Amino acid sequence: MAQLDISQAFLYRVGQSPQFAFRKPHILAHTLDLPVKSAAPSALVNLTGLTRNGLMQALVDSGVVEPRKAKMRATQVWRWMHHYGFTDFDLMTDIGKEQRALFKEKFTLARPEIIERQVSNDGTRKYLIRMAPGIEVESVYIPSVGRAGALCVSSQVGCTLNCTFCHTGTQKLVRNLTAAEIIAQVQVARDDLGEWPSPSEDRQLSNIVFMGMGEPLYNLDNVSDAIDIISDNEGIAISRRRITVSTSGVAPELEALGNRTQAMLAISLHATNDELRDEIVPLNKKYNIEQLMDAIRAYPGISNARRVTFEYVMLKDVNDTPAEARALIRLLKGIPAKINLIPFNPWPGTDYQCSSWSAIETFATILNKAGYASPIRTPRGRDILAACGQLKSESEKKRASVVLREKRLGEQREETASIQDNLPAGESLPFAHLAGGMVD
Ligand code: SAH
Ligand code: SF4
Repeated sequence: MAQLDISQAFLYRVGQSPQFAFRKPHILAHTLDLPVKSAAPSALVNLTGLTRNGLMQALVDSGVVEPRKAKMRATQVWRWMHHYGFTDFDLMTDIGKEQRALFKEKFTLARPEIIERQVSNDGTRKYLIRMAPGIEVESVYIPSVGRAGALCVSSQVGCTLNCTFCHTGTQKLVRNLTAAEIIAQVQVARDDLGEWPSPSEDRQLSNIVFMGMGEPLYNLDNVSDAIDIISDNEGIAISRRRITVSTSGVAPELEALGNRTQAMLAISLHATNDELRDEIVPLNKKYNIEQLMDAIRAYPGISNARRVTFEYVMLKDVNDTPAEARALIRLLKGIPAKINLIPFNPWPGTDYQCSSWSAIETFATILNKAGYASPIRTPRGRDILAACGQLKSESEKKRASVVLREKRLGEQREETASIQDNLPAGESLPFAHLAGGMVD
C-alpha cells in the first residue's frame, strides 16, 4: 500500500467532536490519583507561565526579592517548578522559611482543575481541564509518537477562523489561553505520567504539538512564551525542534513565529487552488495560497532536516482527486516538505464526509511516487474520543434535530470505520491531524 510521509502513529485533534465513535469504547476512566488543586484565587500571580525574565521581574515587583538577588531566586524557583514540578513553596528547601511565606502571600504555582481524565486501551490519555469558570480545554497525550510520546495542546478556547470542516470553528472564540494555561496542559500530562523531575533520558513525553483548539498564530505572544518555558534546559527541557506549531495560514506571522520560537512548522493547506481554499479555509481570502507559499519559503530555519508539514484533510468529492494530488506536488515544489493526509473526522451537523479508502489510497500513491514517503502506523485513542463525545452529548438536552444529526453522524462513522478496517494488518491511515512526520 501507499506509504505517506507520516512516520509514526497519528495524533488526533482535540477540542472537537468525537472522532471514530464507531467502536465500542474500552475506557479505563480513572480519577487522577494526584493532588489536583483548584485554580487559585485570582489575586495570586501564577508564576508558572512567566519566562525567566518575567519571573525575575515578578519577584522584584512584588517586593519580596531584592533586585540583586532576583536572578538567583528566579533560578531556584524555576528549577523547583519546571524541573521538579512542585506546586508548594514549602518544598523549596534552598529558600528561607520567611521568604517562602512571603511567596505564598503573593504567588501561586497551582494546577488547574482536571475535570476528566481518560485512558485509552492503547495508552492514549486525554484530559479535560478547567482553567477558569467556562474556560475548558482538552489536551491529549499519545504514546509512541515523535521520539517517545507527544502532547497535543490547545492555544485558544474556540477559534475565530471558521474553517468549514472544523468543529472548533463552529465554536465562538472564548479567549486566548495564557502562557500559564498552555504550560498547565504540559504539567498536567507530566503529573499524570509521573515525569518529574525532568528525566534526562527515557522520557514518555518527548514532543509538543500545537494542534488542539485554536489558531496559535493569533495568540503568538503566549505561545512563544510557553515555548520558551517548555524548551528551557533547566526545566521541562523539550527541545524546540520537538515542538510543532500548526497554523491555518496566518502568512504575515510566520516569520515572527520562526524567529521567536524556532518551532517546527505545520501548515493546514487542505486545498491547492484559491477558489476551493477560500471556501474551506476562509482565512485564504485574506492570505491566498501564493502569499502563504512565499511566507513558508521564507520560514526561518527551514531545511531538509527541518521540513514543513502540510496537513491535508481528505474530504469526499471536495479535494480528493488525483488531479489535486498532482497539483499539491507542483505547489510544494522546492519546499522541504512532508505531507500529512488527514481523513476527515465527522462531527454533528457537518455536511462533509471522509473520502473513500480508494480515493485516499490513490491520492497517497501519487504523493508516494513523488517522493513523499514513510511508513504509516496504527491510529490511536479512538475509544476515548468516542467516550468523550458521549460524555458531552449526555449532558446536552437533545432536540429531535440533534438526534437526527447524530444518526447521520453514526452512519458516517461506520463508513469511516470500514475504511480503517480495510487496512492491511499493522498499517493504517494517518488518522489524525498530527502525525509523527511532524514530530520526529
Ligand atoms: N488552528 C490550527 C491548529 C489546530 S487545527 C490549524 O488550523 O492548523 C489542527 C488540524 O486539524 C488542522 O490541520 C485542521 O485543519 C485539522 N482539522 C480540523 N477539523 C478537522 C476534522 N473535522 N477532521 C480532520 N482534520 C481536521
Ligand atoms: Fe479549526 Fe484550525 Fe480552522 Fe480554527 S484555524 S477553525 S482550529 S482548523
